[in-house]
Amino acid sequence: MNTHPIVRLGIISALQEEQQGLVEAMQGAATHIHGRRDYTTGTLWGIEAVCVLSRIGKVAAAMTATLLVEKFGVSHILFTGVAGSAGNGVTVGDIVVADTLVQHDMDASPLFPPCEIPLTGLSHFAADALLTTCLAQAAAAFVQGDLGDAIGDGDKQLFGLSAVRVHRGLVASGDQFIHNAARINRLGDDHPGLLAVEMEGAAVAQVCFELNVPFAVMRTISDNANEKAATDFLHFVRAVAANYAFYIIKRFCQQTSQASMLSAGTKS
Ligand code: SAH
Repeated sequence: MNTHPIVRLGIISALQEEQQGLVEAMQGAATHIHGRRDYTTGTLWGIEAVCVLSRIGKVAAAMTATLLVEKFGVSHILFTGVAGSAGNGVTVGDIVVADTLVQHDMDASPLFPPCEIPLTGLSHFAADALLTTCLAQAAAAFVQGDLGDAIGDGDKQLFGLSAVRVHRGLVASGDQFIHNAARINRLGDDHPGLLAVEMEGAAVAQVCFELNVPFAVMRTISDNANEKAATDFLHFVRAVAANYAFYIIKRFCQQTSQASMLSAGTKS
């Protein structure tokens, strides 16, 4: 992290279950209510952090990301949450770290090409390369190191978590919970290489692009975005995704605070 050391890290999740453990792990935690959300400030494994639930959807996520930057002064943003698989070898229990994000439901055609954000000339937003690499490394270290103990055997069996993989690539966001095989196949056709669908990441990406704040997005795959997507969703979030997020963020913070300490002496 020595090209842009983290000064204050904003951590956004969509659902309460996904973030509870992190908030409980915060040192010196203080909660500030603003715009109907709780922003908890404190320190996570040596990193100054602000944790907040965005709630679900692009507007909710955009507002949360904006306030994190403008009111709570975060220098970097991480989003952790769950997503539906869009195929391409991604299965339930895998981790997707976004390299690029697109808003699949933005369509101002024929005035602008489908998915282009009007008046930006952009349809795809790149996550910060360094932050994304650090997050993917933390995810890989979690899979190799903590996963065995972090999830109960019953849940591992229930959700088929035997060969968990970390993927990097394209994530699409829209204000729709995708639960239809034909729909997810069409999205995959429209967006070659698509790994996952969710409802917030690309909105955070647009805000961070416009405010020039480095960001990264990590998603645990909870479903296949087909007719069975809603089954056991909350059980998965509580038993699997919340643990993934906790241990991956823990490793990310530990890695990052160490790197900042190492680079502190070499900064110009
Ligand atoms: N059933 C849940 C609703 C979750 S909405 C409840 O009652 O609270 C889905 C959340 O998970 C969103 O934050 C979204 O980003 C993500 N997500 C998971 N699977 C998804 C899918 N198949 N399509 C879109 N978003 C999905």
